[in-house]
Amino acid sequence: MLGKLRPVGSRVPLPSSETVPLPWSQNYTAKYCASGTDALALAIGLAVLKKPEVARPEVIIPAYGCPDLVAAILSQGACPVLVDLAPESPFMDSQGLRDAVTARTVAVVGVGLLGIPERLELLAKICEDHALALIEDSAQCFPPYSAANPLAEFVVLSFGRGKPINLMGGGALLYRGKLTVKERKFVDGQSIETLKTGITWQLKRHLFNLLMTRIGFFLLEKIPGIGLGKTRFKPHPEISMRIMPSSLLFGGIKNYGRQASLHFFYEKVLRDLENTGWVLLNSDRFSIMGHSTESPRLRFGLLAPNRYIRDRAVNALNSAGIGANGLYEVVLSSVEDMPPLGHQPEFPIAVGFAERLLTLPCHEDVTKVDVNRVAEVLVSVGAKCPHE
Ligand SMILES: *Cc1c(COP(=O)(O)O)cnc(C)c1O
Repeated sequence: MLGKLRPVGSRVPLPSSETVPLPWSQNYTAKYCASGTDALALAIGLAVLKKPEVARPEVIIPAYGCPDLVAAILSQGACPVLVDLAPESPFMDSQGLRDAVTARTVAVVGVGLLGIPERLELLAKICEDHALALIEDSAQCFPPYSAANPLAEFVVLSFGRGKPINLMGGGALLYRGKLTVKERKFVDGQSIETLKTGITWQLKRHLFNLLMTRIGFFLLEKIPGIGLGKTRFKPHPEISMRIMPSSLLFGGIKNYGRQASLHFFYEKVLRDLENTGWVLLNSDRFSIMGHSTESPRLRFGLLAPNRYIRDRAVNALNSAGIGANGLYEVVLSSVEDMPPLGHQPEFPIAVGFAERLLTLPCHEDVTKVDVNRVAEVLVSVGAKCPHE
């Protein structure tokens, strides 16, 4: 088959001359950055500033996640502390989280994976008990959960490719209330770049959007050495703030508002897989865990019965023209080029999650025909190996 459905990412919008309400404007102020990682580094830097008496500050994150989390933490002179996941979920285990808190802890990062926000009520309670800053990493979720429920002290957004709003890069840090003089000095002390949406930007946008079509993505993958989506640790050198036209953000939010919640259709079509050992990361599962959100997902996630079936499913789906993948595939401590993270607790659940997770495209170009094709492929993959 010629052409392939990209795994993730919405098309880059045009700037919009029409003002669009920002979902967080009631509760937060935004500072724009060059990337989501910059915004996260800024949030961590601010959390470290709040506890100047702590010599080697620690920041708690889930053991399965984006390696940029670790890069942002290390860039601020803090140490990441990894916490295992709750069974068959992308959420941190709450007891594991409580156990990970020490006198050195300054912040907890609640990460919304695949568009599913963390259980921020629960995390906020734990943070309140220990006077920790709660950071909502909403790089994969839009709008952030805290926009309407201002539970997090800081919220991180990303506008990178493969994120809900794709502006070909960029990010934002949202903060509540007012920054202190010391905090403002820290933020204002970072370097600043200016983004202009001139002719070069317009051409780049066209190229980006071309490479996101089925033919474009198919050809892109054929370029040797491009290593699309390979998970690798990269240190984060320095924070860069960004001045960007608000018309661009308005365009992105407007575009996103038109997106359908395709995951409900996935949930319906794939439901029977649960009889053969698969686990859907579906709405029902999360509402049981005290969680509800109906925002469109960045990707639809499910757990295969085991890693062999997951890997076979990835191959079969890609051969069928569907860009499915295992996302990061390993826990943070096993990511390529990851620096040693010192002594960490065990995280067997996160290891299993990393081995079994399969993510399916959920963006605006996925059709119901595609979803039915996915179901056919997954049923046939399962049928070939009933006893593994
Ligand atoms: C992508 C991502 C980031 C980093 O955002 P960039 O804009 O790529 O720097 C941070 N956290 C999570 C959960 C992400 O998915």
